[in-house]
Amino acid sequence: MTERTPGDRAPETAAGERSPAPRRHGERGDRVCRGLVPNLGLRVVFARVGDTARMSRVLHGLYPTSARLFAEALAAGALLGALQKDENRVNLQLECDGPLGGLFVDADVAGNVRGYVRHPRVSFPGDAALGARAALGGRGFLSVVREVGAGNFYRSAVELEALDLAGDLRRWFAASEQVATALDLAVVPRGDEPLGDVAGLLVQRLPDGDGAAVEEVRARLAAGALARAVAAGASAQDAIRAVVGDGFELLGDLELAYRCGCSQERARVAVSALGREGIADVLAKERQAVITCEFCRSRYVVPEAELRDLARRLAERDGDA
Ligand SMILES: [Zn+2]
Repeated sequence: MTERTPGDRAPETAAGERSPAPRRHGERGDRVCRGLVPNLGLRVVFARVGDTARMSRVLHGLYPTSARLFAEALAAGALLGALQKDENRVNLQLECDGPLGGLFVDADVAGNVRGYVRHPRVSFPGDAALGARAALGGRGFLSVVREVGAGNFYRSAVELEALDLAGDLRRWFAASEQVATALDLAVVPRGDEPLGDVAGLLVQRLPDGDGAAVEEVRARLAAGALARAVAAGASAQDAIRAVVGDGFELLGDLELAYRCGCSQERARVAVSALGREGIADVLAKERQAVITCEFCRSRYVVPEAELRDLARRLAERDGDA
């Protein structure tokens, strides 16, 4: 399930829906900051995705519990994306037997994220964290698929056990990476907005790093240090200081945004993949192919004339035109 219709257009919302909150810029807008704490030998990544999470809720029509889980997944994807090299992408996939069904986030090192939830309309009233757990159910998998250059992908997965995205992502790091990692995800309500702010923080020990320092960060995160800092309105660097301590040196600070790479051309490629029989079937039944991008809801129409053209080219390729 890594193959999705990709794009070049900005996300769109259907007419008539309330529009997403205006994007905030400056240091409290959505961003990914990465850097080092040289005296402790730690790598640190902080991601803030609140604007993107609220925009995604409108884009995908997410009910509160689905929206919360997707917000956490966006933060997790942003952290994973920041660990990628070059232009390589990373996918976070969750499959579960609960009402959510699963979710998917695609991210890269440039601060681009996008994704979707299998079942958008999941809402459990009451405690949001307990509701999220209920939405995941009892069994499932968390997988990370990393592009490792030249169209090669590396997948590793863990079975869901914590039934909490941050907890299972920690287990994924423990099982898949050789590096001591501390991480947390925080969804902090503000007034009656359940997605008031959303952030993730990841700390890894560098080869010459201090193992005890990672343990201390873990203890602070377990005591809720990230959520507290974010709730207090901390900037990225303030939040890092609150969890990791002094000595952080910034290496990169990027704006994070929901961007999709889908296009009419990609829609045509997707239709070609139906093959001659598939296209003949569409021509007989609907006369045109309509494709909606799962990530950004953009709608592409491949009209009858183009379908006939695609069918003719496939026939030529097969040598029996
Ligand atoms: Zn798209």
